[in-house]
Amino acid sequence: MPAMTASTLRDLEHHSAFVERHIGPNDAEIAHMLGVVGHDSLDAMTDAIVPGKIASRAPLALPDAMTEVDALAKIRKVAQQNTVLRSVIGQGYYGTHTPNVILRNILENPAWYTAYTPYQAEISQGRMEALINFQTMVTDLTGMDIANASLLDEATAAAEAMTLAKRSAKSKSNVFFVADDVHPQTLDVLRTRADGLGIELLIGPAAGAKDADTYGVLLQYPNTFGRIGDHAEVADAVHARGGIVAVATDLLALTLIQAPGRWGADIVVGNSQRFGVPFGFGGPHAGFMACRDAYKRSMPGRLIGVSVDAAGNQAYRLTLQTREQHIRREKATSNICTAQVLLAVMASMYAVYHGPDGLTRIARRTHRFASILAAALGQAGVPVGDAFFDTLHVTGVDADALHGKARDAGFNLRVIDASSVGISLDETTTRDEVVALAKLFGAEIDIEALDTATTDALPKTLARDTKFLTHPVFNTHHSEHELLRYMRTLADRDLAMDRTMIPLGSCTMKLNATAEMIPVTWPEFGNIHPLAPADQTVGYTELIDGLEAMLVEITGYDAVSFQPNSGAQGEFAGLLAIRAYQQAQGQGHRDICLIPESAHGTNPASAQMVGMTVVVTRCDKDGNVDVDDIRAKAEKYSDRLAAIMITYPSTHGVFEEDVVAICDIVHQHGGQVYTDGANMNALVGVARPGKWGSDVSHLNLHKTFCIPHGGGGPGVGPCAVKSHLAPYLPRALGGDGEVGMVSAATHGSASILPISWMYIAMMGADGLRRATQVALLNANYVAKRLAPHYPTLYTGRNDLVAHECILDLRPIKDATGISAEDVAKRLIDFGFHAPTLSFPVTGTLMVEPTESESLHELDRFIDAMIQIRDEIHAIEDGRLDREDNPLKHAPHTAMQVTASEWTHAYPRELAAFPLATLRHTKYWPPVARVDNVHGDKNVFCSCIPVGSAEDEPEAFSEPDVV
Ligand SMILES: *Cc1c(COP(=O)(O)O)cnc(C)c1O
Repeated sequence: MPAMTASTLRDLEHHSAFVERHIGPNDAEIAHMLGVVGHDSLDAMTDAIVPGKIASRAPLALPDAMTEVDALAKIRKVAQQNTVLRSVIGQGYYGTHTPNVILRNILENPAWYTAYTPYQAEISQGRMEALINFQTMVTDLTGMDIANASLLDEATAAAEAMTLAKRSAKSKSNVFFVADDVHPQTLDVLRTRADGLGIELLIGPAAGAKDADTYGVLLQYPNTFGRIGDHAEVADAVHARGGIVAVATDLLALTLIQAPGRWGADIVVGNSQRFGVPFGFGGPHAGFMACRDAYKRSMPGRLIGVSVDAAGNQAYRLTLQTREQHIRREKATSNICTAQVLLAVMASMYAVYHGPDGLTRIARRTHRFASILAAALGQAGVPVGDAFFDTLHVTGVDADALHGKARDAGFNLRVIDASSVGISLDETTTRDEVVALAKLFGAEIDIEALDTATTDALPKTLARDTKFLTHPVFNTHHSEHELLRYMRTLADRDLAMDRTMIPLGSCTMKLNATAEMIPVTWPEFGNIHPLAPADQTVGYTELIDGLEAMLVEITGYDAVSFQPNSGAQGEFAGLLAIRAYQQAQGQGHRDICLIPESAHGTNPASAQMVGMTVVVTRCDKDGNVDVDDIRAKAEKYSDRLAAIMITYPSTHGVFEEDVVAICDIVHQHGGQVYTDGANMNALVGVARPGKWGSDVSHLNLHKTFCIPHGGGGPGVGPCAVKSHLAPYLPRALGGDGEVGMVSAATHGSASILPISWMYIAMMGADGLRRATQVALLNANYVAKRLAPHYPTLYTGRNDLVAHECILDLRPIKDATGISAEDVAKRLIDFGFHAPTLSFPVTGTLMVEPTESESLHELDRFIDAMIQIRDEIHAIEDGRLDREDNPLKHAPHTAMQVTASEWTHAYPRELAAFPLATLRHTKYWPPVARVDNVHGDKNVFCSCIPVGSAEDEPEAFSEPDVV
């Protein structure tokens, strides 16, 4: 023990600094690891890795690091600047009670929120069951054949419906009809998307869709004013012309009214927010899409399906991935990567908890209140419309005066125009509220009397006549104990960061600290409607402006939009900015986007969405983008060059020397430089893209800035730009910016921004730089320690990698038949989540340990990888069979290793306990290796019927990505 007596307060407080908790290795471990990597200090190592041309040594101008206690106190003050009124604004967002058992055990539970996208099916069965419940819920309620899990929000889901319809319609028309009574944010996003793709929008009253010559239509049911229209005739007319009918709808209303699938909808979209997810000032919430079976291979987004495992048991997996950006690139059905998994899980659990009867009761009660309020207003002589579920369209009033009066009484109404307002009731509505709302119109009411005297206002012809949620999962877990145990059972099937490092290259699975998560569930952030008046959202403004200033300082850009709710959405926003800027310069003809072959699939998929043509550039044998090829192609397309999209450090995990030169070349030829900022974890405090010549980047707050992955979302993909592009960032809802909205809400998934704010506030400038340096150190330590066993494919300056390393398993495959996938699956037997498989190079594993992993955890992973290499040697030597070995049959379930019969050519103990340490803590995968081909051939995307049959497996492997 060192003598403590002489310590100053400063010394003593050093160890309560958050940075000490965020960063895994301590000083002694860092010194040891630096020794392994061959450098004296973190700074010396950083200098050896980061090219001098881009390195910025000046400390970031950020406030000093705060302790957890101080940062929470500060953000509490920020939150308290928000005023929480009762919002009955509606317009796609409704009050809801998050069941407390779901709040604590899903939203606040790292077993759920720190999980990754379920590419590794065997360790993701729990969340995939929750997601297949979501899909079943959506399918049942909408009356469609198949649903995905999930889309980003209702407005982008509508835009995806517009493009799905385009891909699927028989009509040759290029016109898409949009009913003028869809939500305003939906219309804005549709305009943005249609513009990029050259689709013409025709907007008019829903009935007009009957006669318009269009390839598809979008209707809203109930519409934005609450009215439930009968669209059967319109649907028939559209079908008769070979067109497709898309419908935006409300899941709670559908418990009472006819499913759109019953009257002719081909695609149904919406938002599941009111199933237990707070307003959050606009997000995150899970959007949904359901469609006819015929369109399933053309659907956007993530789809969970049922397949079988190697033992013949049913198992879930991501199905039909060949539609997606990571495989199909610019020909993908969408650019969606990160979606809204955690919120979809919450909404599905809400349905599991309440069941069909509970949901119907909630809907009936909501409708009862709406009917009673309508009757009261009717008696007071105020017209409210008919055929509604929960929303009254109150006309003939002085909207502004009413709005002011409502605010004094504690309510936010929707101001529709000068003489009408909207009032949307919901699950949280109480008798007192209805009395108070009636009073705003001068009506004094006796609720109980009105209740008896008032009939429902649902159109009789559109009463729901089909059952929903009949599967046992929605009819079993209704007591809290049952639901608690169901959620725990599912969580136990999965591996998340509460059990193991998840060293996924490009995904940056770093610590999501508890202190960062705490503000997310404060009502001052959660209970704010996205359209709440500005004077009630002062805290949000402070939070957003503050975070923007932090990110401006960190990146070297000038302005940031938080509207994009994923990285891919950020790419789309950035490319839109480039396009609008070039149009304003009279350069609107520029349409070529250069993208290196190593790019993430979202890059080409996003370029396609703004109407750019992708030209792929080569990489050299060292993994660097080929500058000569870029120069040649920039010259060739000089008069058409719009942009280059590069990732830095590259997806190959190296800091390329030539990035400044590349920026110059592209600028010389009139193009703009888009830097994919997903790898910002290697740059924060070390180099700033906005200062080395890049024009725009998206950041992944759910990677570098600690928002958890949630099992595949939510994310925030802010778009950061230099000042010349700032006027072309997406506008606010109702705003007058040049470029339209890319997401439904002005500030996207605003309610999770406190996570990144807390992270930066607690780390401070020095802590952020140190985090980056340790991320570099950890990656280089893993690469060095594993070098004798697995070669690292690419290295940069001084033979060092950046924040991740690609382990090349292709020689092993050639020599032994053991593939990278076999190694990935074998890691499960050791309790590890595999590194990124086959991205960006097929047959490799990309390891990104991040700064948050301790030396202990890194060594545990390295030991597992070395043991696996020994097993491969044993195959080479003939000590293990080439076919019947623990790698080919990994992972091993408890059922398999404890079965009375064991026929494998290797011992059971080797199968289950390849390292002695596993005897203390052992993760048992719930299923054996999942068969991908079977699942794609036999697409089934709903809850497994009880007692259904099993099938025969086949083997297959597909890349896995980020
Ligand atoms: C993760 C990632 C993206 C996409 O981000 P999402 O939030 O998943 O849409 C884009 N580029 C790279 C390099 C990434 O790693």
